[in-house]
Amino acid sequence: MSLRIVVTVKYVPDATGDRHFADDLTVDRDDVDGLLSELDEYAVEQALQISENSDDDVEVTVLTVGPEDAKDALRKALSMGADKAIHVEDDDLHGTDAIGTSLVLAKAIEKAGFDLVVSGMASTDGTMGVVPALLAERLGVPQVTLLSEVSVEDGTVKGRRDGDAASEQLEASLPAVVSVTDQSGEARYPSFKGIMAAKKKPVESWDLSDLDIEAEEVGLEGAYTVVDGAAERPARTAGTIVKDEGEGGKQLAEYLASQKFV
Ligand SMILES: Cc1cc2nc3c(=O)[nH]c(=O)nc-3n(C[C@H](O)[C@H](O)[C@H](O)COP(=O)(O)OP(=O)(O)OC[C@H]3O[C@@H](n4cnc5c(N)ncnc54)[C@H](O)[C@@H]3O)c2cc1C
Repeated sequence: MSLRIVVTVKYVPDATGDRHFADDLTVDRDDVDGLLSELDEYAVEQALQISENSDDDVEVTVLTVGPEDAKDALRKALSMGADKAIHVEDDDLHGTDAIGTSLVLAKAIEKAGFDLVVSGMASTDGTMGVVPALLAERLGVPQVTLLSEVSVEDGTVKGRRDGDAASEQLEASLPAVVSVTDQSGEARYPSFKGIMAAKKKPVESWDLSDLDIEAEEVGLEGAYTVVDGAAERPARTAGTIVKDEGEGGKQLAEYLASQKFV
């Protein structure tokens, strides 16, 4: 038997860099360094572990929708151990929202063929955490999201979702979509051998026409969400220091109440 796993990986602006909005209020992706979203490293790790623990023939494909530089995210995932990569890039994707992104990802996943999709719990830039559920809906398959533990056995994906009050054991028959959390297990560092091997692994490039998607379905024109305005974050002020001279607790509570925190 064989198992085809597609891992969705996002190339995000480096949070330690200086990030800006462009004039059309989209994120300026040209002038900032980017990297593989840290939360998607956990998704790659879990896919690789499923592959390593399986007696089946498993193929792990990493998929990104993003600009030219997004290939860096694919290279990192390949050097961690994924088998091949797909890069969807098209000028008309500029301004695409989560719904449009899920359309592009779903069409690419269908074209690639899949038994299991593994996503991160959220991207580190948009942090909406909605794409895995949107993908399951578009692909017409079950979703098992926010897993801290995941495994595949006999055509079934199983996992544990940890909540505040309880942990749930969940399972779904394949094909399915799962998302994994940052509690699912530390992601491996690419080894030197892995980095060298990644250079020879196949990276396919697709555009919207390869996926039968019209330009109007994506981009700012196809977006269901609109950014009305953006403002620079105000500079940090010195803050308020509460000195405890017997009444510190009361003063603190009063301050928190005045700021509507309590
Ligand atoms: C070139 C470009 C321009 C964009 N412009 C805009 C814009 O102007 N306005 C706007 O609202 N959105 C824009 N987007 C889309 C946006 O960056 C997000 O991809 C999308 O809104 C999903 O939201 P999120 O990142 O919060 O996803 P989440 O739901 O938080 O992501 C969850 C998981 O979904 C997967 N995933 C999400 N996005 C991608 C991706 N692109 N490729 C592969 N896997 C992914 C990852 O596994 C991730 O961990 C643009 C995207 C691209 C590539």
